[in-house]
Amino acid sequence: MSNFLSEVKDITRIERTAMHSHIQGLGLDDFLEPRNVSQGMVGQKSARKAAGLIVRLIKQGKIAGRGILIAGQPGTGKTALAMAMSHELGEQTPFTSISGSELFSLEMSKTEAMTQAIRKSIGVRVKEMAEVLEGEVVEIRIERPESLEGVRKGKITLKTTDMDSMYEIGNKMMDQLSELGVTSGDVISIQKAGGKVTKLGRSYSRSKDYDILTSNINFVECPSGELQKTKEVVHMISIHDMDVINSYSRGFEKLFLGNTGEIKQEIREKINEQVLLWREEGKADIIPGVLFIDETHMLDIETFSYLNRALEDDLSPILIMASNRGITRIRGTNYKSPHGIPIDLLDRLLIIATKPYEYEDIKHILKIRAEEEDVEIDEEALEMLTNIGVETSLRYAIQLIITSDLVSKKRKGTKVKLNDVRRVYSLFVDVKRSSQFLKEYQKQFMF
Ligand code: ATP
Repeated sequence: MSNFLSEVKDITRIERTAMHSHIQGLGLDDFLEPRNVSQGMVGQKSARKAAGLIVRLIKQGKIAGRGILIAGQPGTGKTALAMAMSHELGEQTPFTSISGSELFSLEMSKTEAMTQAIRKSIGVRVKEMAEVLEGEVVEIRIERPESLEGVRKGKITLKTTDMDSMYEIGNKMMDQLSELGVTSGDVISIQKAGGKVTKLGRSYSRSKDYDILTSNINFVECPSGELQKTKEVVHMISIHDMDVINSYSRGFEKLFLGNTGEIKQEIREKINEQVLLWREEGKADIIPGVLFIDETHMLDIETFSYLNRALEDDLSPILIMASNRGITRIRGTNYKSPHGIPIDLLDRLLIIATKPYEYEDIKHILKIRAEEEDVEIDEEALEMLTNIGVETSLRYAIQLIITSDLVSKKRKGTKVKLNDVRRVYSLFVDVKRSSQFLKEYQKQFMF
């Protein structure tokens, strides 16, 4: 595949995820009941509730060998829901999204493309000890053993002056720790973050103030205020990335260009062995991520049986498929089945249904998207956009937010007004109008 093509593909992928940047979770309360609007999610309550239950099952390890299917009409937030589930599983959960049609356009076999997608969705968190360097900002987190009941959890912020020595900083730190109820012998850790700190030692500090943010300078018993200078560093990598890096002498470059080619089976076996060994030795954790496959009806019988087997593997991600079809022919066969998915796979799936949005939901989603894109929009314009969303599609209405903003800025406005939306609505046609236009255009040439 040429670099250009892979770049285009990456950009499409980035756009695909950027579209959902407002989604932070399923927006459920402690009893798994959906709040009307929360964590960027709006409406679609029963689907969100079902998704919440599934997330709980996954966390309890009760979903091995099974997958999830989100069934609903186009534009009902299937991708949004899958992303929300992945957020709920933890911020570091890898999320890979492919569509059934994409699988057939890649310059590699379908099963290779599917294997790569699966392996991109499995993360490995590797732990390593390293020196704390000068210039790092650290946060103290207190890991409280169960016995330490009553100790308050807290973030410690140390204000220091130019003249403070590390010794003094250490003492200030100890003072704050004891205020939090930590006594000598308790295990606490310090994490790296994003600002500046000076030497962790006894030399002079030049920083004015600093937050202490990261985990892991183990700082067991330090009555003198001296810090031990090692920390735990955590790297996150997918096993697909490990495959690529180990396949080529310039693997990183390949990875960067998205130009990975087919990977040899022996390499994959070696990587699996390695990762499992690290896990055994406590050096790494395996983080099963989410593999989201949209347009599942585009997959064929071969790919389905491959997926079926992959679900049984020790190293397998959480599979979420999406379909907007009813009874359809299974590609590569003459049989029909619900969603075009073979019955044996269908049997293993938990199915969530999404429903079309009402006016108020669409309005709310548009409002959230406008905030996310930093666009100020007045009520009338928002209502117009909502009506457009109801008549055409939510996706189309969302695209008009940024374009209306451009038009508004061009006339030096600070807020998107009704006329800006009207203007872009006439400039950019939606699918319905564009096909109508082509039909009429065709008629003119019939005679
Ligand atoms: P589908 O896969 O069903 O076509 P999608 O999630 O890929 O759905 P749309 O439903 O077209 O895409 O969603 C368009 C936009 O609306 C996206 O930005 C999506 O994040 C957002 N969105 C969809 N449903 C919700 C929801 N319930 N709450 C908040 N935002 C949503």
